[in-house]
Amino acid sequence: MDSHSPFVLSTHDLGRRPGSMRTVQKVIGAPEHLGTELVGIEAGSDLALDLRLESVMEGVLVSGTVRGIVVGECGRCLGPISQPLAAEVQELFVYPGHEAPEGEDELPKLHEDRLDLEPTLRDVIVTALPFQPVCRPDCPGLCPECGIPLAEVVGEHKHEVRDPRWAALEGLTGDLAAEDN
Ligand SMILES: [Zn+2]
Ligand SMILES: [Zn+2]
Repeated sequence: MDSHSPFVLSTHDLGRRPGSMRTVQKVIGAPEHLGTELVGIEAGSDLALDLRLESVMEGVLVSGTVRGIVVGECGRCLGPISQPLAAEVQELFVYPGHEAPEGEDELPKLHEDRLDLEPTLRDVIVTALPFQPVCRPDCPGLCPECGIPLAEVVGEHKHEVRDPRWAALEGLTGDLAAEDN
């Protein structure tokens, strides 16, 4: 475990005394690839941690919130998105030798008296990201005819609806006209 990583926290001062606790409030830089192709938190941008580390029998319970700014592209109008995200953290880091009860997921482990928050933060942030990101809940998207963002249109925006059969005929007369020349 890289003890210089900003995601690695020491639990040394909890001293394996169940009931002892401390809080962690700090801002760290987001790791790379935090999100999907459409939406995510930019590498290096601020992640604000507001956590509580609590010593329990099996290990150390970490709970609290992580906050950051989500950026991406609106799924309707393709405009840029930038919105705050707050995700809840709750993870038990167990002492080495503690086995998860059968049928339960393996819990992250404490290494000596340190724990690595990165996998946990990744999980909670990626889960909290909007599945279908939109710039605003009522984004009207793009005009299906001409592709302009409808949010930018002032007043009514309509295209003349033409019967495709007329369009085909017009194409035909155009061709004939071209032949005349
Ligand atoms: Zn939009
Ligand atoms: Zn249009």
